[in-house]
Amino acid sequence: MREIKIKNSTQQIPIGKIVCIGRNYTEHAKELGNELPAKPVLFLKPASAVIYSGDDIVYPSFGNDLHHEVELLLLIGSDVKNASPEESENSIAGYGVGLDMTLRDVQSELKGKGHPWTLAKCFDTSAVISDFVLKEDYKLSLDEKITLSVNGVIKQEDTLASMIFNPAELVEYVSSVMTLEKGDLIFTGTPAGVSKVNSGDKLVGKIEGVAELACGIK
Ligand code: ZN
Repeated sequence: MREIKIKNSTQQIPIGKIVCIGRNYTEHAKELGNELPAKPVLFLKPASAVIYSGDDIVYPSFGNDLHHEVELLLLIGSDVKNASPEESENSIAGYGVGLDMTLRDVQSELKGKGHPWTLAKCFDTSAVISDFVLKEDYKLSLDEKITLSVNGVIKQEDTLASMIFNPAELVEYVSSVMTLEKGDLIFTGTPAGVSKVNSGDKLVGKIEGVAELACGIK
């Protein structure tokens, strides 16, 4: 069973479901030729896809265009359904940084056929997560910078304030669709600058003051 690691805490929380948000930064939606959503775009990843900072991402055999997507992660700390804005904010226990690794060539083919994105998004090692910082130890301002570098070169750089839907709005919407439970994670979408990675690359994802992760591509 995969667990969430928390800074300055011995709490061990099993990872529940992983809800991912698509197109939550205007410039990223544009770079993929997508319209801006009126409501968050949702998809899921299985907990079996999770690896941690320091582990290797394994390039799947069934795709050729593996992209990095660096994202703010929300850790859900209490069960919520049809949450009010206040309940939504209160259900967020902490924050981390993650990579939503995506097979872009496979995703484009699936989109074209009107099929779900499972093959492009749910393979083993497709969800990299950092340690989490609890809200009681860190107050998110949304002024934090989020970055991803490949072999020391910055590829993605933005501030969390560029998100179309903020963390509480995302929890409110997701909880109107499905119950969120303690240990669930929300990947909140990626800024512009996604690009192809290759075997041997070293990726570093960071959110200033919040969390950092590093991993290689196998
Ligand atoms: Zn993503």
